[in-house]
Amino acid sequence: MHSLYVHIPFCRHRCGYCDFNTYSGLDSLIPNYVEALSKEIREVGSQGDRPRLHSLFFGGGTPSLLTTHQAGVLIGTIRHSFSIEAEAEFTLEANPDGLTERYLAELLLLGVNRLSLGVQSIHPAELAVLEREHGIERVVSSVRAARAAGLANLSLDLIYGIPGQTLDTWEQTLQCVLDLDPDHLSLYALTLEHGTPLRREVRAGRVAAPDDDLAADMYEQAGERLARNGFAQYEVSNWARRPAGPDAWRFASRHNLQYWRNLPYFGVGAGAHGYVNGRRYSNVLAPATYIRRMNAGPGRNWPLSRAVARSELLSNDEAMRQSMWLGMRLTEEGVPVEDFTQRFGVSPDGRFGPEIDELLAQGLIEREVRPNRLRLTEHGRLLANQVFVRFV
Ligand code: SF4
Repeated sequence: MHSLYVHIPFCRHRCGYCDFNTYSGLDSLIPNYVEALSKEIREVGSQGDRPRLHSLFFGGGTPSLLTTHQAGVLIGTIRHSFSIEAEAEFTLEANPDGLTERYLAELLLLGVNRLSLGVQSIHPAELAVLEREHGIERVVSSVRAARAAGLANLSLDLIYGIPGQTLDTWEQTLQCVLDLDPDHLSLYALTLEHGTPLRREVRAGRVAAPDDDLAADMYEQAGERLARNGFAQYEVSNWARRPAGPDAWRFASRHNLQYWRNLPYFGVGAGAHGYVNGRRYSNVLAPATYIRRMNAGPGRNWPLSRAVARSELLSNDEAMRQSMWLGMRLTEEGVPVEDFTQRFGVSPDGRFGPEIDELLAQGLIEREVRPNRLRLTEHGRLLANQVFVRFV
């Protein structure tokens, strides 16, 4: 079973901390971009005999900049070129910026059933450091619009470790967001990515550097607070509401689980990444180049489209390494030993015995017998990068 990621690389404004493949001031390209994307979707899906999808994700950028007509064109092309499971998860990322009930109800009719909103903070000073343009009132109205439209699966993103943020303001953000009754929360530590304006501001001393120890305290504080409010952590940065009943993990992101389980996914759009038939690939970054390539470039062998700039067939050993460090991100599921052994013909201990023994001795990972799996300890979650690097 596959997943499909569709990249929409346009934003009204470029936030100072962002290093995603996004562009402001290029909205005039959107109609041609949608046309080029439709071509790529057809090329990848149709050549592959309509691969089966159990999750779709429109990410960016700001996919909510698409009109419902443009979203409808893309979704119609996907339905024609891929076979979509009846219960497929279909996420659209959005900024809490001018979202209306009518727009969201139309997306729901098109098949979108999960909304991921970038909230980041409720405090104007923290949003200003990030150069985010919305305020909490727009978050509240967007969440109300989503619920009124009938969206039953709502995820909110937050950032901690923002210069000037304190344990108190973080607690207020958490409380305010919990009051909005989301189904899923993603909490990311602020990182100063290369080439971003925020990194330059910090380096020039105009903005305080993020405090790693304080960020670690915020992470722990959030874990406790979310657990008390019915959320269960399933990945280093992700928590899902966990209702009683047989499908208790239904709010865990099925699409992102596909990545962390190191399972195949298609990526279409400028700068999108994919992993199909043991091959990782990525598309050209610039939207104008992407459009040009899709209109003129020579065809490629499936699963690669004309937009692919780089591709690499992974060795078995590389795929094993990736399964280890990606699986270690899954705080609940971890690396299931039987699945790994069946997939690669060797157990995790057979290939990575010394690394695993050392991490067990350091108390960073633990071994469970039923089910048979390796995963991070509570302590290991705080030092997760030290675990991941052992397998990279
Ligand atoms: S809205 Fe999101 S994707 Fe766009 S620039 Fe800001 S952080 Fe990046």
